[in-house]
Amino acid sequence: MVATTACQTTAQVEAQTVEFMAMDTFINLAIYSQDDTVLQEAKDYVLTLEGLISTTVESSELYQLNQTGEGVLSFESAQILSRGLELCQQTEGALDISIYPVVRSWGFTTGDYQIPQPDVLQTLVRQVDYQAIQLEGDTVTLAEGMELDLGSIAKGYAGDQIADMVEASGVTSGLLTLGGNIQAIGTKPTGELWRVGIQDPTGDAPLGVVEVDNRAVVTSGGYERYFVGDDGETYWHIIDPETGYPAKAGLISVTIVAESGAYSDALSTALFVMGLEEAVDYWRSHQDFDFILMTEAGELYVSDGLEDKFSLLEGYQEIYPLTVISKEP
Ligand code: AMP
Ligand code: MG
Repeated sequence: MVATTACQTTAQVEAQTVEFMAMDTFINLAIYSQDDTVLQEAKDYVLTLEGLISTTVESSELYQLNQTGEGVLSFESAQILSRGLELCQQTEGALDISIYPVVRSWGFTTGDYQIPQPDVLQTLVRQVDYQAIQLEGDTVTLAEGMELDLGSIAKGYAGDQIADMVEASGVTSGLLTLGGNIQAIGTKPTGELWRVGIQDPTGDAPLGVVEVDNRAVVTSGGYERYFVGDDGETYWHIIDPETGYPAKAGLISVTIVAESGAYSDALSTALFVMGLEEAVDYWRSHQDFDFILMTEAGELYVSDGLEDKFSLLEGYQEIYPLTVISKEP
């Protein structure tokens, strides 16, 4: 399901677009340019990246690495892994790319959902530790039993790479949609800001709009992939690496707005795990991104950098009370 949707725009120049399914999601790349060859290159790039880092395609480098625990990676795989490791460190393990065995035990990789036995989960969680991933140049070694999952950053990383690619070809306006990841290149051709819809976790419609230029807008939501267990509880795909259980720190949706797509993607997942208070502390000590957080109770918290950029759509002001968070506690 698409978590963040790009709003329609009334631009004078026709957009060149390419649409396809990859990385488990719907992808739409739109650029304002006479030349569409770069779009084909961008699509090829996404498919190549997916072929390298898919956890389920047997020929992928990541699949092979997960099977054998060691490997020599291609430049692209080593780059994304190295970026992933940096982001795990920066979020002090709220993001942990060695979470894969836990994600699989819940059935999130196949859709064969189940609640794992607590002792099974405990054993798997003990092996989750990004610090035990050794990457030296292009050579990687995993600890015993460890398997990696780059799903929390791959779409954002791809967005960064495509943005660089199309900008290098001279494009100054475009909107890249990779599932819940939006990457805005420049402004609309008219010079106006791009309007990106933020999905209502309880439905398919956007609840509000954030206006951006040259930014990634990335959402992680508990409503994106989940199941209801026999116990009536909802279990979603964002896991707390400390417990192995779906992260229930009080948030239902986290949107990050920042320059880098990979950074935004990492933080949308990590801040979901942290919960409101820790997420706000994290923002105050970094200040290189903005956020829109929604709690399970339906309260919205928006960082002050978005105060003039985010607005609730008609009818939503009454439903979701909004608090602006300032840099000073
Ligand atoms: P996202 O949609 O970007 O929030 O990423 C969620 C995906 O990343 C899940 O489907 C899992 O494959 C994986 N994942 C879940 N929890 C974590 C976590 N705490 N750290 C890293 N990856 C995770
Ligand atoms: Mg993410």
